[in-house]
Amino acid sequence: MIKFEILTDDPADQELVARYWAMDEDGKFIENVSDLLPYKGISSSYHLLSHIQKVSIARDHRIVCSRCSEYFEARSRADYQTRTRFSTGVCDACREQENLKQMEEQRILSDKLSARLKEIEDRNTQRVIDYETIPDDIALILIALNSAINPRLLTGLFSRDQCQGLAPCFTSALVTKLWKAGVIADLPSKALPGAYFLRDDEVWHTNTKVSYFLLPDHELGKTEAALDSLRNRAYTQFSRIRQLWLDYAVSECMQYLYDQCSLHRLQTSDESDEQAQSVLRTSLETYSIAQLWSVIWKVVRDAASLSAREYYNKEKAASTIHGKIKRYLERAAREGLAVKSWDRPGEQPAGTLGDVFYEFFGLYEYTPGREAMEILADQNLDEDEVGPPSEVVAAARIMMQRAIEQGCEATILLSFAERIRQGEDVQAALEAVCAANLGC
Ligand SMILES: [Zn+2]
Repeated sequence: MIKFEILTDDPADQELVARYWAMDEDGKFIENVSDLLPYKGISSSYHLLSHIQKVSIARDHRIVCSRCSEYFEARSRADYQTRTRFSTGVCDACREQENLKQMEEQRILSDKLSARLKEIEDRNTQRVIDYETIPDDIALILIALNSAINPRLLTGLFSRDQCQGLAPCFTSALVTKLWKAGVIADLPSKALPGAYFLRDDEVWHTNTKVSYFLLPDHELGKTEAALDSLRNRAYTQFSRIRQLWLDYAVSECMQYLYDQCSLHRLQTSDESDEQAQSVLRTSLETYSIAQLWSVIWKVVRDAASLSAREYYNKEKAASTIHGKIKRYLERAAREGLAVKSWDRPGEQPAGTLGDVFYEFFGLYEYTPGREAMEILADQNLDEDEVGPPSEVVAAARIMMQRAIEQGCEATILLSFAERIRQGEDVQAALEAVCAANLGC
């Protein structure tokens, strides 16, 4: 079973190793290790084994390594006894070789990743964009993000976690929109460990571990003035803005739905969440967010009482929620029932994107969906009637903002009206009023 090779010429060593490995017909060791002591001044079995390992190599002839087909080395009696002839595996030498190979492969991959990340970092830090080409919905998210993480948008880096002030939930999807629109970029050197990895030779990243930064405008850089250019632009891409409003309004409803479900210990599935979002998104074209809060409150309460019934459980009850919302609203429409509005839940402040919608379009949780859709309807103006020029929109917005800040709206409007009456053109009147009354 064991065959050994002696590495010295000393006959005493040869005898020692032979006695150490000697077995009877049943494979039992004939002598105890203690019987071999003392030997050449060695008095402990531990030191004796070290000596035997130094002067000999023993191989277990019952099994071979599955890689190199060599017999396994037996380093001690215990080593021999822990294996059986049915053991399989890889010998230490092969394992070590494989480890080395694996480490080498890891090193090559990690070098490759580092090189690719450096390319990304160099490219991203040099990128500039033209803020005038940023789509309207993306511009609104940026303005809201600035309030949510002020002053980090202009001065530093941010992670997705830090953007949660944008909306009650689903804020990561908003950051993804910015990323896909190419207005923010990532800085690999500032990411959390393990953020980036290679898959099929492509660089991938884990969203939650990445650090992002705002790309600068090609002329104004990354400044308040650049953000002001977004604030003061003429917003015209209403189909995009409408979708963004619905995204925001859905997040207001879904967060309330999650909170109500957790209050009643109901757990919704991803699939039922998705269906609820679709139903809510459609309903938000008719109803206000505050009305849907009241519907959700009622529906979740009904589902919770259903879950207590026989043949029902919490999962089954939770999966009925989206259907109940839809049926409730269908009935309300059919029978002309008034759908009540709920006040904003205390634990659910509006997101900064909601604030932006209020500031720019007057939309908030009490705005009926129908009205919101009208405000954000595509405006098919004739060529001759394309709204006020953007300079006028910008000047008017600045004037009104300052007036509100300084609490002198009426004075400003009267002074503006007087100038128009006297025949000044709108742009000149706006600028004159601003200069005379508001220090701008
Ligand atoms: Zn091997």
